[in-house]
Amino acid sequence: FTHVNVLGVPFISATQAAFLNTVEARINRRENTFVVTANPEIVMYAREQPAYQKILATADYITPDGIGIIKGAAILKQPLPERITGYDTMIDLLAWANENHKSAYFVGAKPEVIVDVAKVVAKRYPQLQIAGTHDGYFDDFGPIAEEIRKVRPDMVFLAVGFPKQEQLISDYRHVNNGLWMGVGGSFDVLSG
Ligand code: UDP
Repeated sequence: FTHVNVLGVPFISATQAAFLNTVEARINRRENTFVVTANPEIVMYAREQPAYQKILATADYITPDGIGIIKGAAILKQPLPERITGYDTMIDLLAWANENHKSAYFVGAKPEVIVDVAKVVAKRYPQLQIAGTHDGYFDDFGPIAEEIRKVRPDMVFLAVGFPKQEQLISDYRHVNNGLWMGVGGSFDVLSG
């Protein structure tokens, strides 16, 4: 994909469908893939925090999550095709995983929420293999990363909010070749 730089963040210029095709092919090849769906809040935060900007620079794909990014690109006369949100991408990938018998590991949100996420996923996507779940209130990600390394999921969804989720993905993505994606508050939406 080509990129459009909005306030220092390089967004991919892609439709949601083309982006999904690319990510799915990478998951099939078990390529280590870090996706950030960045909203204007993330862009502004990256401008103030060089350490976070550096982490974003290591992402394989940064997608425009929010109309503000689409408008910004249009003002720069470098229009982006459409929004690619974290929630929609996660839902599309779960449906694809269901059809293709892929596995996913879910980390994030409050304990009662992640229990509901597991229930909803098991019901809606019965062929998807839930490789594991953990709530988002842990002191040390190390043991969770160790479990992810053992169970080798095709996809890891991390919903602990930014900038923490991107920091954790940057620190631990090496433990498993597959998709790593921060999905913010998406588990709260998915759980009900
Ligand atoms: N969260 C978490 N651990 C934390 C802090 C937050 O699991 O230490 C969860 C919180 O329960 C919520 C999500 O992370 O489900 C944050 O959602 P928010 O909408 O604030 O994140 P954003 O989309 O802005 O990144």
